[in-house]
Amino acid sequence: MADLSQIKCPTCGNRGAWFDGDYGPFCSKRCRLIDLGKWFGEENKISEPLRPDHFAGYDELPPGTSLDET
Ligand SMILES: [Zn+2]
Repeated sequence: MADLSQIKCPTCGNRGAWFDGDYGPFCSKRCRLIDLGKWFGEENKISEPLRPDHFAGYDELPPGTSLDET
């Protein structure tokens, strides 16, 4: 049976009982921050900056019309 207390740090791959530490499953605060930064980076890649034409449809709606009902 595998030793479940020995896990791999998702960032650097070091093995240890990281779940017992303050930053589990990461081996250190540094590795946790690196992983968070990686995820934020992915998000920024997917979302494009807002442009004025994203809101163009709002101008064509009659006053009082909710976009939720269309
Ligand atoms: Zn690590």
